[in-house]
Amino acid sequence: MAGRLLLRACLTTPVRLRSAVVSGASRRALATVKGIPTDEEQATGLERRALQALKHGKDPYSMLKPKEYAGTKEDPHIVPCIGTKRLVGCLCEEDNTAIVWFWLHEGNAQRCPSCGSHYKLVHHELPH
Ligand SMILES: [Zn+2]
Repeated sequence: MAGRLLLRACLTTPVRLRSAVVSGASRRALATVKGIPTDEEQATGLERRALQALKHGKDPYSMLKPKEYAGTKEDPHIVPCIGTKRLVGCLCEEDNTAIVWFWLHEGNAQRCPSCGSHYKLVHHELPH
């Protein structure tokens, strides 16, 4: 994907060469009749599935930045899980060097034993 972006950036940037004929010929050699295909047109396999899911507002492979939660009872930290319990590490304060680890179980939201932030386990299906 990065190679295609670099190629596209090179083709959209005006190239200053001594001869306009050479510039036109190099552009024709790299471009097709329809122009350069987009990422969605030439993506295949897993990359194509991920792009289609992102287009529909889904993030099955956790590629986007996770949403931030307040950690209160009304807005608990959401912890995705494929099972019924998951080990959670809480950095209770921003400058803490020690992580408080505890098991989060399915059901109601649980609180961190040290700072009291709320965490809720939500079942998550794997994309494949
Ligand atoms: Zn905590």
